[in-house]
Amino acid sequence: MAQSHDLVIIGGGPGGYVCAIRAAQLGLDVACVEKTPNLGGVCLNVGCIPSKALLHSSRLYAEIRDGLSEHGITATAKLDLAAMMARKERVVDSLARGVEGLFKKNKVTRYDGVAHLAGKGRVAIEGGPTLQADSIAIATGSTPVALPGLAFDEKRILSSTGALSLEKVPKHLAVIGGGYIGLEMGSVWRRLGAQVTVIEMLDGILPGMDREVARVMRRALEKQGVTFRLATRVSEAKAGRGGLRLSLAAAGDGGTGAKADGPDTLAVDGVLVAVGRKPVSDGLGLEAAGVETDGRGFITVSDGFRTSADDVYAIGDVIGGPMLAHKAEEEGVALAERLAGLPGHVNYATVPGVVYTHPEAATVGRSEEALKEAGIAYTVGKFPFTASSRARAVGESEGLVKILADAKSDRILGCHIVGPDAGTLIHEAVMAMEFDGSAEDVARAFHAHPTLNESVKEAALAVAGRAIHI
Ligand code: FAD
Repeated sequence: MAQSHDLVIIGGGPGGYVCAIRAAQLGLDVACVEKTPNLGGVCLNVGCIPSKALLHSSRLYAEIRDGLSEHGITATAKLDLAAMMARKERVVDSLARGVEGLFKKNKVTRYDGVAHLAGKGRVAIEGGPTLQADSIAIATGSTPVALPGLAFDEKRILSSTGALSLEKVPKHLAVIGGGYIGLEMGSVWRRLGAQVTVIEMLDGILPGMDREVARVMRRALEKQGVTFRLATRVSEAKAGRGGLRLSLAAAGDGGTGAKADGPDTLAVDGVLVAVGRKPVSDGLGLEAAGVETDGRGFITVSDGFRTSADDVYAIGDVIGGPMLAHKAEEEGVALAERLAGLPGHVNYATVPGVVYTHPEAATVGRSEEALKEAGIAYTVGKFPFTASSRARAVGESEGLVKILADAKSDRILGCHIVGPDAGTLIHEAVMAMEFDGSAEDVARAFHAHPTLNESVKEAALAVAGRAIHI
C-alpha cells in the first residue's frame, strides 16, 4: 500500500524545504523527496551559499593584498585555493546538516530519489516507494542555460556550478552574461588574480536594475580590473591548446545603436556561461497529470500556487518570476499556510535583489526607468556615500542611495543602492514599503550616528529637498 501524507513536496531547495517545515509547524503530515544527497537545493549547494563563501574569502585575500596599506598596515597575502575551496565545502555541508536537523525536529519525512507525478494524488520515486498525498507541491527549481556550441564540460566551459569549484585560478576567464551571477563569480576570480572579461549582449550590465546603479557598478568593477565588452555576443568558440578562442560579434543594435568594440577574438582559458536559468520541469510527468507549462517550461500557476491539475501546486524557480531563494521561501511559507487554511500571501512588490560584489548593489521596487515607462510621477532623493562620515571612516565611499517616491503621496516606490553593505541597507526600504511607508517616514526615523544607514535617511530627506549632509 502507498505511504500516505497530507502534503508531498518534490524538491528540497529553499522553496521545498521551507514549505515542508512551515506545513509541519501547522500540523500537516509532510514528506519531501529530494534527488541529491543534500537538502538545500541550488541555493545551499551550488548557489547563494558557496558563492558568498568564496566572495568573502576572495575579498579578504584582495583586501590584504591591495587594501591595507592606506590603513598603515603591511601584510603579505598568500593564496591556498584548495583550503579556500575546502572551507566553502565545510560551510555548505554544515548548513545542509542543519536543514536535515530541522526536518527531524519538525517531523518532516525525507525520501531520497527522483520523483514524478503518477496519477491523481500520487508521487512515484524511481526505484522507491509510491506516495499518496492529499496535496502535491512541485519545487524542482532551475538549472543553468547553455549556449549553442558551448556545452558545459565544467572544466573550460563552465556553468556557475563549475565556476564555484575551479582547482586553479584561470589566467583569463571570459564571463558571458553581465547579470548578478556573472558579476559575482567574475569578481571572485578577478580578486584571486584572473584577468576577467565580461561579455554582455545588451549595452549595459545588470539588466532590470536601475540604470544609474548599474553604471556605477560597472565603473567600480572596471576600477578593479574587470573588462566589459557590451553589446557583444560570442559567435563561435574553438578549443585550442589549453584554452578557448572566442569569436565576438556585435550583438546587433538592439535598438540602441550600440556596436561591439575592441578586438573580435578573445583567447581565454575558461568561459563561464551565465546567461540565465531554465526551469526543471522535464521528466515530472506534468503532461499526463494535466499540469500546464508556458512556452519556456515554467509551470503556470494561478492565485494560491495552484497548477492546472487539482491538488497540485508549484512554487519557487520552477514557476518563474524573480529566481531568488527568498522569493522561493516566501512562496513556500504562503503555500503551506494556505494548505492549512490560513491566508498565505506573497508581496511581490517588495522582493529585494542583491548583487554581492564589492561594492554591493541592491534594489527593491520600481526603477526610475520603469516609473517613467509607466507614466507615474515620482520624486527622487539621492545621497552619495562620499558624504557619509561612516563610509569615509571605513574607506568605502563609492556609490549612492537612491529613493523614488510617489510625487503626490510620498509613498516609497523603489530604492536602489550601490555601495558598502547595500544588501543589508536595502531592507530599510523593504520594511518601509511593506508598511506602505513614505520617504518622510524613513526621513523622520532615528538613525544612529555614525552608520551607513544614515545614507538611507539622507536619501529619504533628499526626496523633499532637505538632506542635511549634502
Ligand atoms: P532549487 O534550489 O533549484 O531546488 C530544487 C531542488 O529540487 C533541488 O535540490 C533538486 O535536486 C530537486 N529536484 C529537482 N527535480 C527533482 C525530482 N524530480 N525529484 C526529486 N528532487 C528533485 N538567490 C538568492 O536569493 N540570493 C543569492 O545570493 C543567490 N545566489 C545564487 C548564486 C548562484 C551561483 C546561483 C546558481 C543561484 C543563486 N541564487 C541566489 C538563486 C537561488 O539559488 C534560487 O533562486 C533558489 O535555489 C531557488 O529555490 P527552489 O527551491 O525554487 O529551487
